[in-house]
Amino acid sequence: MSIAENLAEIKARIAAAVRVSGRVGDAAELIAVSKTHDAAAIEAAIAAGQLVFGENRVQEAQAKFPALKAAHAGVRLHLIGQLQSNKAREAVMLADAIHGLDRASLAKALAVEIARQGRAPKLFIQVNTGEEAQKGGVMPDAAEGFLGECRGLGLEIDGLMCIPPEDEEPALHFALLAGMAQRMKLPGLSMGMSGDFEVAVKLGATHVRVGSAIFGAR
Ligand SMILES: *Cc1c(COP(=O)(O)O)cnc(C)c1O
Repeated sequence: MSIAENLAEIKARIAAAVRVSGRVGDAAELIAVSKTHDAAAIEAAIAAGQLVFGENRVQEAQAKFPALKAAHAGVRLHLIGQLQSNKAREAVMLADAIHGLDRASLAKALAVEIARQGRAPKLFIQVNTGEEAQKGGVMPDAAEGFLGECRGLGLEIDGLMCIPPEDEEPALHFALLAGMAQRMKLPGLSMGMSGDFEVAVKLGATHVRVGSAIFGAR
């Protein structure tokens, strides 16, 4: 299957999941995760009408996206991986959304850069729903406090993001995150990847991050 065919299939499956869950229109945005894939693969996706992409490393995104954005109006980049505070400047310069906000030092660095550059990417707080030691994200019981800290720095927070543990039922994590976002009155929910995006959409995802099902194995 080509990238265009994969995209058409994923979009149809998202639309079907939106429909069965009684949600309206294009309530779930597809982020095509292009990490490790070259500009030619991304160009193929753009030619098929996809404009929103995800990368998890600032350096790799920097190597690919300034040229793609210059060549194609409307291309948007989401940084979805763990972000080091010393990459905040590049991240704010390059990204239209940042999904890995999970600690005060990063929030402070982003606040400084957003003020300095006058450019404000959408921000998602990553929640470590599985409470895994090796994974980024704030612990669920610390999320609300962290939201307050971010707002105290002047940051506008759009939503929550999670990456469920690989060996657990993702629906439990998606439902947990959706409940948290509802309580915290945050509209955005970044959840769901190639293997589970339909489940995520049914549980309220506003953004799904799909890589290998579009671009092939990494
Ligand atoms: C790589 C990545 C994805 C996409 O994963 P696939 O299984 O290839 O769809 C989604 N989210 C994050 C944070 C990633 O790093």
